[in-house]
Amino acid sequence: MRLIENWFSERYSDNLQLSFRVQDQLLSVKTDYQRIDLFNTYDFGKLLSIDGTVQLTEKDEYIYHEMITMVPYYCTARSESALIIGGGDGGAAKRLLNLGIKRIVNVEIDQNVVEISKKYFPDLASSFDNKNVELIIGDGIKYIKDTNELFDLIIIDSTDPVGPAEGLFDRNFYENARSKLVDDGIIVTQSGSPYYQPEALKMATKGMKSVFDNVKTYIAFIPTYPSGLWSFTMASKSEIKQRKDIIKPGKYFNEDILKGAFYLPQFVKNIINNSI
Ligand code: SAM
Repeated sequence: MRLIENWFSERYSDNLQLSFRVQDQLLSVKTDYQRIDLFNTYDFGKLLSIDGTVQLTEKDEYIYHEMITMVPYYCTARSESALIIGGGDGGAAKRLLNLGIKRIVNVEIDQNVVEISKKYFPDLASSFDNKNVELIIGDGIKYIKDTNELFDLIIIDSTDPVGPAEGLFDRNFYENARSKLVDDGIIVTQSGSPYYQPEALKMATKGMKSVFDNVKTYIAFIPTYPSGLWSFTMASKSEIKQRKDIIKPGKYFNEDILKGAFYLPQFVKNIINNSI
């Protein structure tokens, strides 16, 4: 008897891809912005992919979501309000609620991501039902230009810098974001895999350095993202330093990670230093 196996692969380069063995494909839709696929995988539970790239899996989403929220949170003096751009799955909003943030605006361009997450990742998307979260379906680039509100934290939880997210990595966008941050506020963006996507890290570093005096990169191990090594880049008008609070650990994040995540391999430092 022939054994039938189904696999989803994300291509990292012309010569390398990572494949997940899947039980079923639960969904595939082409929206106005992107193609969304959802799989039930053997090792990582449900996996959401956008344009062929892994966005999140049930099993390891906590690493990305903790690192994009808890690191900047513990680097601000006080965080009472936050703006999330992207993040239609609700995972970043969920972590900010856990941190006690009282005002969260989440601007996601694609309503379909929110609907899919409500159905398949209810634990994450339930954050959108919380009275402290205002969900806006719209383009984050336009929102940040038009809003009059100032935020303590701005979190860019976007797809890679192609398609609708491209403009979330340029100087113009960071200039607008700077004017919507309080003086000691922090903006953070996911800036891709330093190994396979050095251009994303370069774009974020260059864009942020052109408008902020203080820019810092940190890294995390995310098994389902290209190469497993992921970067985040944060910036502020003020010096970035750790707040004095007692740190409550997550499942990945803890006090050691808050320090150690900023220690970078030399090849990552070289990408950053060559970004100007
Ligand atoms: N954890 C993910 C990662 O790094 O792979 C990101 C997850 S989240 C699902 C990314 C979201 O950003 C997508 O739902 C996408 O629709 C949204 N997005 C992309 N460009 C956007 C824009 N210009 N404004 C608002 N949301 C945007």
